[in-house]
Amino acid sequence: MALSAALPDIDEKSVADEARALEARYGELDSRLIIELAIDHLFNEEIAVVSSFGAESAVLLHLISEVDHTTPVIFLDTGKHFSATLAHRDRLIEELGLTDVRNIQPLQSSLKREDPFGALSMTDKDRCCYIRKVEPMARAVAPYRAWMTGRKQFQASTRAALPVFEAVGSRIRINPLARWQSSDLTAYMAAHGLPAHPLVEKGYRSIGCMPCTRPVEDGEDQRAGRWAGTDKTECGIHLTGLTDTLTNISLTES
Ligand code: SF4
Repeated sequence: MALSAALPDIDEKSVADEARALEARYGELDSRLIIELAIDHLFNEEIAVVSSFGAESAVLLHLISEVDHTTPVIFLDTGKHFSATLAHRDRLIEELGLTDVRNIQPLQSSLKREDPFGALSMTDKDRCCYIRKVEPMARAVAPYRAWMTGRKQFQASTRAALPVFEAVGSRIRINPLARWQSSDLTAYMAAHGLPAHPLVEKGYRSIGCMPCTRPVEDGEDQRAGRWAGTDKTECGIHLTGLTDTLTNISLTES
């Protein structure tokens, strides 16, 4: 089906207004209520979850599974993950009973053309993230009106003002855990017997692709180990580049 046909044209300004109204009305609600509201009332079939199956991803996925374990979960299978991440993904799918996890991979044509030796991350991380994360992410969320993430304000200074509801072009992104603290996550995982990613005990507190992730020291931001030694702080799937890519996909995939 044409992606542009899957999502009717929606005015970006009205979506921005909608996100602000949702934030004002529901942004302070309990996370579980926000998820219920989003899945059962606001977006129904038109919402997905994006998960990295990273350090604390079990918390959001557990909440989702309790509301509706059939909710689509998008995993960006970049081809550069730690094997421990893939094992953790499989364990959580099994333990939480998630029935619709989608492993979204980069386009083979892009890999062949731009990263034939799998070493692009060493020379051009932005481009590597684009072909392995941003384009696949845009492709994966294009059919939905909204998606949820596990991002939190405490993770980095760049996320300090993260709202629960935000507009991404003509779609809504929901961050139900935005106001959670690290201690809240730890307590929730303990209370529900949820497994941490196996690399957490080795000092990894935010876990992305293997070539671009290192453990963090005490006192560092949780995300300080991502693209360490460079100016890069985000892969782009949460930034404006995604909006542009989504727009291009909607315009061209018809
Ligand atoms: Fe490539 Fe590193 Fe980005 Fe992964 S995080 S897509 S390996 S640059």
